[in-house]
Formats: sequence, structure tokens, C-alpha cells
Amino acid sequence: MPMPNRDPRTTPEYRRLVVLAAKDDAERQKAIRVTKVVTGDPSQRLVALTFDDGPHGEKTGDLLSVLRRLRVPSTFFVVGKMALRFPELIERIVLDGHELGNHTYNHYRLTQIPLTQVAGELNSTRDTLIGLVGSPTRLMRPPGGEYNEAIQKIIAREGYTNMLWTDDPADYKAGRTSEKITELVMRDITPGGIVLLHSGLPATIAAVPEIVSRLRTQGYTFVTCSELIQRGNGLLHLQNHSARISLTAAT
Ligand SMILES: [Zn+2]
Repeated sequence: MPMPNRDPRTTPEYRRLVVLAAKDDAERQKAIRVTKVVTGDPSQRLVALTFDDGPHGEKTGDLLSVLRRLRVPSTFFVVGKMALRFPELIERIVLDGHELGNHTYNHYRLTQIPLTQVAGELNSTRDTLIGLVGSPTRLMRPPGGEYNEAIQKIIAREGYTNMLWTDDPADYKAGRTSEKITELVMRDITPGGIVLLHSGLPATIAAVPEIVSRLRTQGYTFVTCSELIQRGNGLLHLQNHSARISLTAAT
């Protein structure tokens, strides 16, 4: 008699692998001492693809399949309330070798809510992710990239690293085609680059294979954000700041 089909997600072995993978990421992030990052090491051809705002159900599932086929590790800055809707995607992100980041719980612009609510927006997502995969993430990205000095202090005090970006093709703009997204990524790419993309957009998902292929042709290696930071540490302590990564605010 054939065995009944069982969802692998419900097996203890699957759960164990998710928890182990998330723990690995958390261990690596523990060593990160910087509280804000605007670029990786400009002397190394490393690049971090980042995907914000998800997870978005089927679309993020499609994106994960593309990234798996291409063997590209990435970083997903997820929204807490969305993570709760799609826990299976959070598990898959971790299991596929990607890294999770915190993109707040409600995706409010942090400059537009009372300062007293900023820590809660971050910590609710941290706690949600601990509930889903067993370990926290220290990386965060403010919605819209909006923050100010007071918000940055809270980000640092609460133990997060503010991950900004070098390369923004504005893939969320109405009418953006895959070709345009690819063109803009390639126009602005720099060694140590951090590329801002979004996880639920068909044009972005369709652009990823071409972006990956062109960057590989130019000698780039794909890394998660924490690997980018880790591998940049040796050089970037020379930057004129208490942190080890160069620190001008991204626009
Ligand atoms: Zn966002």
C-alpha cells in the first residue's frame, strides 16, 4: 500500500532543519557590531540582493524557486504581520540559505509614528520571527528608508543593524519593466553593493535571472547581508566613524 502523502513541513525533521538554519544566521549576526550599513567593502566584488515587504504568498514562492535554481543567497526584509500570514515562506527563506531581516511589524514610516512606538514596531517582528524559526534577526531596514537621528539611536539601542542600500532601481514604480529594472541595477552596481528589490513584484522576479547572469559575468559573488558585513570588516574599520562600515545616509 502506498504511504499517504505527508506535508514535509509538518515533520519534526523539517522543523529541526529550520531551527538549525536560523540559529546559524543568528550566530553570525551576533558578531556584527555596526548599527548602520550603507555599503559593503568597495574593494570586493560581492553583492547582496535584498527583497523587502514580503512575504507575499505565491509571488514570494516563485521568487524563492528562481533564487534556488540560480543558487543565489539573498536577504528578505519581512513585515511582521505578513510573516504571520505566511509562516511556511518564512521557513522556506531560512531553509533555502537566505537570511531574514526585520522590516517592522506594520510597515509604518518610522518618521511618522510616535518615537515611543518605534521599538515596538521592531521588537514585535523580532518576536514573531523567533516564534516562527526559533532565532531572532538583528538586521533591520526602515520602511521607505525613512529614519532620523532619534530613530537610529533606538535602532542601535534595541540591538539592530540598519541595513540601507547602494542600488535602488525603484522596482515598485508603476509600469517598471524587467528590462528597466535590470538596466538600472547594472547602471548603479558597485563592488560591495546592496541592491534594493521587492519580493512581490512579477517584473522584479522576471528580472532576477538576467541581473544574476550579468553580475556573475562581471565577476560578482552573491552574499547575504551579514556575510557582506563580515567580509568587509577588515578594510572598513578605516572609515572615519565608530562603526566599521562607511556611514553616510542613503537617500
Ligand atoms: Zn518596504
